[in-house]
Amino acid sequence: MRVIVVGGGVIALLTAVECVLGGHRVTVLDQGPIPHSRATSFDQHRIIRALHPADPLATAAALRAHRRWIELEELFATRFYERVGALTVLPPAAADTGAALLTDAGGRARTVTASALADRYPHLKLDGSLSAVLEDEAGVLLADRVLAASAGWLKWQPGTRLVERRPAVAVDGQRGQVRLADGQVLDGDGVLVAVGPWSRRLLPERVGKLLTLHRQSLLYCRVPRGQAEAWAATPAVPALGSRRGAWLVPPVAGTALKLSSAAVCREADELTDHLTPQDWQRELENEFGNLLPGFGPDWVLGSKDCYYLSFTETGGPLVAALGGSGHAYAACGGTSFKFAPLIARSLAARITGATPDPTGFAALDDTPLDAAG
Ligand SMILES: Cc1cc2nc3c(=O)[nH]c(=O)nc-3n(C[C@H](O)[C@H](O)[C@H](O)COP(=O)(O)OP(=O)(O)OC[C@H]3O[C@@H](n4cnc5c(N)ncnc54)[C@H](O)[C@@H]3O)c2cc1C
Repeated sequence: MRVIVVGGGVIALLTAVECVLGGHRVTVLDQGPIPHSRATSFDQHRIIRALHPADPLATAAALRAHRRWIELEELFATRFYERVGALTVLPPAAADTGAALLTDAGGRARTVTASALADRYPHLKLDGSLSAVLEDEAGVLLADRVLAASAGWLKWQPGTRLVERRPAVAVDGQRGQVRLADGQVLDGDGVLVAVGPWSRRLLPERVGKLLTLHRQSLLYCRVPRGQAEAWAATPAVPALGSRRGAWLVPPVAGTALKLSSAAVCREADELTDHLTPQDWQRELENEFGNLLPGFGPDWVLGSKDCYYLSFTETGGPLVAALGGSGHAYAACGGTSFKFAPLIARSLAARITGATPDPTGFAALDDTPLDAAG
């Protein structure tokens, strides 16, 4: 089949990889370079963790994603997965349940008590009544390296084309056609639109109105020399157990310490700039002043605002049928990076009419094709 993939973020690129592995001819096109520094996927890191409290299906899927990321490292012959583990801070009973959930799903996890947390992570000021789940099959994906490695691999595959700086302006899923801003029309037998937070601009209004745009601020920090050793032994922390939902990514492989929290994620009307307004930056600085001993604005090297779309009804991702063999990954929710290899398998199966792979992303396979009209 001739497959056209619109977008050059993690979802589009890994779906293209799956289509190529399935023997199809693939054209990937992006409005900017591939990868594009403005894509949601383009960042120093993304957390991969298996534990999804009270969600055994997502937990099992994340363990499969962990294994697929390792296979992708082999396929692309590139290192981009720092397996430093993940630490989720929770009330003690929830930590015990979480560790059991992960172990039942086939993962390796243990509970860390409040006193062990204080001993092991003195550079984190955690609520002394909380425990944590420490999981091994987890860590940090070096996101910009993932994009570069996927694009680099695709570039050398026969029958595959990467088309840069050519925005799509219309998609006809029924005919398998994509119209570019310069008037050229590309013909395919299957089309995927995975344009991240730009989806509302390209997809039909009936889909766009189901989606909510979110904007989130991030701080990139240096760590003091005296704490370097402690930070080098710190896992990714998807939840610090704070009321405001703080999380952090440790400084792995030469990257910065990254700080953010659910409290600085807000709804936005439009995708505009990526600058962090001073008020939001101060809010994050104040929040982490209470969570990291010694932390102050002098740690901050830079900041950035990122965008993502979610399906308003669930807060998660959304696949939309565009007619014929056209599909859109219309919304990614805030956590699609880690699942991207599984999402890609499911999307590739949908586009090419193949039987859904049991190792794909069951949550997507269960979504009715015409959920969005
Ligand atoms: C602050 C933040 C933290 C996150 N942390 C995590 C995490 O720790 N773990 C996790 O799993 N997930 C995380 N996520 C979510 C994850 O980053 C996203 O789900 C994922 O990157 C979305 O990828 P995408 O390919 O759908 O979109 P994008 O990466 O945005 O790619 C879309 C591409 O489409 C292109 N495009 C747009 N319009 C057009 C057009 N008209 N024609 C051609 N090309 C076009 C763009 O240039 C872009 O390259 C986080 C998200 C944010 C915002």
